[in-house]
Amino acid sequence: MAKTKQQLLDELKARIEAADPTPELRKGATQLVFGDGNPEAEIVFIGEAPGKNEDEKGIPFVGAAGKFLNEMLEMINLERQDIYITNIVKYRPPNNRDPLPDEKSAFLPYLQEQLNIIKPKMIVTLGRHSMDVLLPGLKISQVHGKPMRYKDHVYLPLFHPAAALYNGGMRQTLIDDFALIPAILQKI
Ligand code: URA
Repeated sequence: MAKTKQQLLDELKARIEAADPTPELRKGATQLVFGDGNPEAEIVFIGEAPGKNEDEKGIPFVGAAGKFLNEMLEMINLERQDIYITNIVKYRPPNNRDPLPDEKSAFLPYLQEQLNIIKPKMIVTLGRHSMDVLLPGLKISQVHGKPMRYKDHVYLPLFHPAAALYNGGMRQTLIDDFALIPAILQKI
């Protein structure tokens, strides 16, 4: 019998742990934060890297940024169980520093496998780190909220909820961009 998407994702997670693509990050982290949500989802959200709460729980976006994300999902009548969410870098960087280019490259093939298993209709990048690896050469200030087709996928780049949380203008822009999601999904 064919394997389920969940089984394939579980195998991928075990393979990342065995391959140990970023030993330094792994040593400073509690655990690998692989992904969460529905493997059959039409939308996959991709953030930057786990923070303190995510590192402790092993689940992406469970801190303040995650709470804001959940509120925006609710605005468009979606719940966490309706989507799948992950990060480009899957171990917490020390003191929440930005992930390094080498760290993003080390995880990129695994992120691509994760996306190939789920086969979502749309990929939403949150912030510039996940956008940079999947849609190189773009400026988030210019392309946020604009859906684009690239290499067989439809992408929607958005600002990162952590960056927008305490910045009034960016917060409203992110909320407005989020509100476009249902109409964009319908057109794909
Ligand atoms: N920020 C991210 O980019 N990812 C998380 O999982 C949490 C906060």
